[in-house]
Amino acid sequence: MMATTHALAGVVLAVLVGVVFPGSAAETSVIPVAAAALGGLFPDFDLYAGHRRTLHFPVYFSVAAAGAALVAVATPTTITVAAALFLAAAALHSAMDALGGGLELKPWLGTSERAVYSHYHRRWIRPRRWVRYDGAPEDLLVAIAFAAPAVYVLDGPAQAAVLAAVAVSTLYVLVRKPMVLVTQKIVDALPPQFVDRLPARFVEDFQ
Ligand SMILES: [Zn+2]
Repeated sequence: MMATTHALAGVVLAVLVGVVFPGSAAETSVIPVAAAALGGLFPDFDLYAGHRRTLHFPVYFSVAAAGAALVAVATPTTITVAAALFLAAAALHSAMDALGGGLELKPWLGTSERAVYSHYHRRWIRPRRWVRYDGAPEDLLVAIAFAAPAVYVLDGPAQAAVLAAVAVSTLYVLVRKPMVLVTQKIVDALPPQFVDRLPARFVEDFQ
């Protein structure tokens, strides 16, 4: 799924916590909401190094989030609530990746059996493809479904940020496939010696 879908999933988690615990930092401060959005984005910072493995921890993030949630309940401050939401959103991201497509550069072909790596199980979890690939039309639907309650509850800059995320998602969905086709054309046109020097992860599917 798109990074923005994951970020919006984090935001909606924070919004839910704010609704369930009115008066808590999740409702009164924008920091936990921002922390949740960042936690939703965080695992994909491994895009250039061991994607969906280096920073994706479906089991360990969940355990850490449960621990942080206990701390936040025992000592509710903006920081403890924000930390718990960051970890919960990162856990949700890692788990959600199993529902999307595989790791290949043209994931709509459905050739990869690697969705996300579980360090706990020491193996790759296979893609369920409920959302066939990041940037698929159904990915946008999921992003909008997460954004809707957030837009309803939030206001000001937080609400504007959610709407901006939806706009970015829409653009990404529009260029997702053309982008890969253009890359394919560029790789085809490049001299083979040059292609050999590019990181394998970005070109192997195009050769
Ligand atoms: Zn991911």
